[in-house]
Amino acid sequence: MLKKAQALQDELVRLRRDIHAHPELGFQEFRTAALVADTLKELGIAVKTGVGRTGVVGEIGSGDGPTIAIRADMDALPILQKSDAPYCSTNDGVMHACGHDSHTAMLLGAAHLLRQSAAEEKWQGKVRFLFQPCEEAFDENGISGATAMIQDSALAGVDAVIALHVKSDAPAGKLFFHDQFSLANVDSFEATLFGDGGHGAYPHTGADPIHMLGQVLNAIYAIPSRRINPLRPCVISVGQVKGGETTNVIPNKVFLQGTIRSYHDDIREQLWQELEQALKLTTLMGGRYELIIHKGYPALYNDGQVNTWMRDVARDMLDNTRIVEQEFGMGAEDFAYMAQEAKGAMFMLGAAIDDGITRHHHTDIFDIDESVLPIGSAMLAETARRFVMGQLK
Ligand SMILES: [Zn+2]
Ligand SMILES: [Zn+2]
Repeated sequence: MLKKAQALQDELVRLRRDIHAHPELGFQEFRTAALVADTLKELGIAVKTGVGRTGVVGEIGSGDGPTIAIRADMDALPILQKSDAPYCSTNDGVMHACGHDSHTAMLLGAAHLLRQSAAEEKWQGKVRFLFQPCEEAFDENGISGATAMIQDSALAGVDAVIALHVKSDAPAGKLFFHDQFSLANVDSFEATLFGDGGHGAYPHTGADPIHMLGQVLNAIYAIPSRRINPLRPCVISVGQVKGGETTNVIPNKVFLQGTIRSYHDDIREQLWQELEQALKLTTLMGGRYELIIHKGYPALYNDGQVNTWMRDVARDMLDNTRIVEQEFGMGAEDFAYMAQEAKGAMFMLGAAIDDGITRHHHTDIFDIDESVLPIGSAMLAETARRFVMGQLK
């Protein structure tokens, strides 16, 4: 499978660069979706468009056997790209800075490989290709692409779902697996502390929300270290504090907002409660508060059995030294919603360009080593192939 994928290298690079040069924001992936649909149709694969707004679904195989889905995301980010590459973004202010262009190209490559396999081998099931919009953002109803696809029944009848994500800061060709929770529940909060305000020379005449903020911040930062079981990963970070205008006026309110992340649902709920407790300090100091928590993506749960299928493919096709067992961190992925619909797992594919410069995700210099594209296609295709050949347990 890897050899067949390597023969597609030029085509994979062409597709990736085409998408990279024409990035589109979430739920606006019109050109990308058309390119995906056209490429699948050329391969003779039945296609449904407009799934989850701008998503595309293709399917091959037949019969009553089980179905495995493979997911790629297609959206870009609102970043102005800094690059001399011939494939630099031609859509100013929009950039594929997370590698979703490569995910789309690799899944098209996998479709190519599986089309061949379906024609030559005896399948007992189906493979569904999910090209998902808007992983990085939400629509006006707070919904991201994975949820939109699920609402349009894209996961109906799916028994297992797999995906990959490139990792631009890890050595090219390394594969990262982790069983169970690997990326975080991500919630955000907005809080306003209210006091009385007044003259800076007469602080004793009213409640000072900036003074309250000092106590509240201490309490918030103590939540992970003093209130949560140290064996449970979590983090709270304050990203913005806004209050006051000048030297001699105590304001009557201060605003803060931040992010709350965890792996486990019980910890997620405890964090919300602890945050509320921290803000209650304002009431002891003569003030009051308002707290709004926005519930975001769930934690990604990687199914151990599905991971084992993919690890075995990696071992057989590449070798053991490529495999790294490691949590993916406290970031988030809306693939987590799909992994709640069917047993699922995502692996990370190292894709750093080896020249001493680290091109982090979501930065204006992000880029990947394109030599990993066939590895990704082959990993996805071979896992799905073994699944529909009835070789996996
Ligand atoms: Zn991203
Ligand atoms: Zn991403």
